[in-house]
Amino acid sequence: MAKEDPETNFSEWYNDIIERTGLTDKRYPVKGLNVWPPYGWKLMRLIDERIRKHFEDFGYQEVYFPSLIPKSQFNKEAEHIKGFTSEVYWITKGGDSELDEQLVLRPTSETAMYPIFSLWIRSHADLPLKTYQIVNVFRYETKQTRTFIRVREIHFIEGHTVHDSYEDAEKQIADDIEIWKRVSEDIAVPYIMGKRPDWDKFPGAYYTIGADTFFPSGRSLQIATIHQYKDNFAKPYEIKFVDENGNTKYAHQTTFGISERLIASIVGIHGDKKGLIIPPRVAPIQIVIVPIPGEGVTEYSREIFEELESIKIRVKLDERDQYTPGWKFNDWEEKGVPLRLEIGKREVSEGKITYAKRTGGKASMPKEEFMHKVNSLLEEIQSELYSRAKERINSYIKPLHSLEGEIDFYPNYVYWCGEKSCANVIEEKTGKSILSTTEGFGKCIVCGREGQKTIISKKY
Ligand SMILES: [Zn+2]
Repeated sequence: MAKEDPETNFSEWYNDIIERTGLTDKRYPVKGLNVWPPYGWKLMRLIDERIRKHFEDFGYQEVYFPSLIPKSQFNKEAEHIKGFTSEVYWITKGGDSELDEQLVLRPTSETAMYPIFSLWIRSHADLPLKTYQIVNVFRYETKQTRTFIRVREIHFIEGHTVHDSYEDAEKQIADDIEIWKRVSEDIAVPYIMGKRPDWDKFPGAYYTIGADTFFPSGRSLQIATIHQYKDNFAKPYEIKFVDENGNTKYAHQTTFGISERLIASIVGIHGDKKGLIIPPRVAPIQIVIVPIPGEGVTEYSREIFEELESIKIRVKLDERDQYTPGWKFNDWEEKGVPLRLEIGKREVSEGKITYAKRTGGKASMPKEEFMHKVNSLLEEIQSELYSRAKERINSYIKPLHSLEGEIDFYPNYVYWCGEKSCANVIEEKTGKSILSTTEGFGKCIVCGREGQKTIISKKY
């Protein structure tokens, strides 16, 4: 059982549960670098698999670029360097000798990829180019590190596309928004998406769209970003093509970034006092079978295990004999396994299966019927998690009509005119940051001019 309740003591609960359940091991002796034990890594890999599928359904192809970037290549886009300069790790020596040219350990891969894109792209026939890669990136974070949320070695999923026009790049952004929606459904994590204010966009981007989700602590977590680069990178990296009329033009580009923060959001949004709840679509173990010792139970449990495995369910049969069934129930609940089967003498004699959903509820049915319904049962848990999380998140975000009086810790909607001076007032009076603007209009809470609906929150 977790030591704390996420509703009242989120931070301690989070730090405890991720290590206790085997998602991470924080004992590695370098700050911000964590070990992925089997359970955590399997979860990440299953999420990656879903992401790969969604990217490829939209015409992306997977690539792999080197993790070291020459200084001269890194330094070409001024805004980009400025944005990352305090966060990069430098490699200055090879063995005992100083390198002729220093190397950057990639904090993101624009500057690794784009010089090569400029060689790959010659004519409009080479466009659009849609690539993604799943790699680790390194950022020298100076703020307090926190597993899966702010780390120095990040499991990173980055999409990079190149187009013949701004309009075509805009269509890509619409596709990316749809890809992101599918990923979020796989992990049953609701979010709010909107345009970041200019001062918060990605270094070098024309504009940035961010998706944020919200934790019981009241803080928001950025879990996906999509960037329109226009030709901001194409110019310094000379990504040019010859169009239908023989004119040479600069290309337009977009990127899309997701990270291991997806795991943080699964933990933070679905977890409860008993531990994790992992959505069935990505759960390393979807079903656990706990035998309750009795005549014929071992054979019957193994039969069920084999049947489930043969229909591609990720199933575990817990035959450890040093633990009681009750202890095992708690153990698997804590690890967030969505469905538990309890198999005892009665189940054997009646040919039934008794199951308990991690989201609540227990029932029995004939084995044959269960095998027939198991996939829809798992999908039912998935959608229960999703709708429960949506309700919770909606309850966190309240409209704020005045900046006077007491303002609580939770996120709000306000209307904001877009002026930095008004943003400063909002941020100062609430202690929250402007996250993003979304659809909806009203009077700016500071100056009264026409404003857009804007989400403000304390951030991770
Ligand atoms: Zn204003």
